Amino acid sequence: MTATIIDGRALGMEIRAELREDIRRYTEAQGQAPGLVIVRVEGDAASGVYTKAILRIASDIGVQARLEALPVTASTDELHALLLHLNSDSATQGIIVQMPLPPHLSQKMVADTIAMEKDIDGISPHSAGNLFLGLPSFLPSTAAAVMEILERTHPSLAGKRVVILGRSNVVGKPLSMMLLQKNATVTICHSRTFNLPFFTKQADVLIAAVGRPNMVTADMVRPGALVIDVGINAKPEGGIVGDVDFASVSEVASALTPTPGGVGPLTNVLLLKQCVEAAWLQIGGRTKDFSASRQTL
Ligand code: NAP
Repeated sequence: MTATIIDGRALGMEIRAELREDIRRYTEAQGQAPGLVIVRVEGDAASGVYTKAILRIASDIGVQARLEALPVTASTDELHALLLHLNSDSATQGIIVQMPLPPHLSQKMVADTIAMEKDIDGISPHSAGNLFLGLPSFLPSTAAAVMEILERTHPSLAGKRVVILGRSNVVGKPLSMMLLQKNATVTICHSRTFNLPFFTKQADVLIAAVGRPNMVTADMVRPGALVIDVGINAKPEGGIVGDVDFASVSEVASALTPTPGGVGPLTNVLLLKQCVEAAWLQIGGRTKDFSASRQTL
């Protein structure tokens, strides 16, 4: 079998077109575009690259995005004060803080401080709690991107056996909750799982979010499975590679996301989608779920 390759860039463009139209309506109604602020404490080169990518997409679709850069020496009080200011700023509808932070700054403080209604990357305990309870909530954008791919390409997950490799707070755990809401039968594997292939070979849908290059090989995949590769691993010679061995798995899977060009290009688009959703919710202009990925019981 030769797998269908799921084109994340094309899906991203489709969602951008939908958002452009939605943002136009919002801007017309409000007299100002939805506002996004990216807070970045300098020091991590990769987060600088992600920030530029988000700013580029925002500008393309009409979100008013700006960067608040703090020096690597910024104190907890400075970061806290900036977040409180943004929480009450009427031109800011969505806030994200780029991770990782320097070691002296607490990620928990950030998660506890960002206003719930502006927490567009779903990092606060409140957002996580709502997700756990099956209530509407903002979602970690990578997990939301995976759900968006599944819903646009394979809408019926009810009764499907889904195996997730990885249990991080930003990918594996939130995905498991979202998939349960869709009535999938979910198994989460991690570094202490014994006999990984025993589980992966049962999967109708296999999601790899591990951070190990080419770890998932064809012999671990059930013929005909849908495989989503979340992994982004830097290659020593430059470029990136996923957690899934693309060449061998594409011979057995029915569909597969590539790396690059799969989940990655959708993550920032989903972040901006949630920013637009936050903007509508803050003016009470949308009462029912907008995002296909939001959860309701
Ligand atoms: P993480 O926090 O490091 O978590 C990795 C998970 O994989 C952990 O749960 C770990 O298990 C598990 N794991 C590690 N080795 C394993 C093994 N040999 N067998 C089974 N499970 C194993 O990583 P993350 O933040 O979730 O990211 C995962 C991958 O996705 C990375 O490559 C990252 O770069 C990528 N990513 C991509 C995007 C995107 O936009 N596409 C966004 C975020 C992350 P334990 O819990 O037992 O340690």
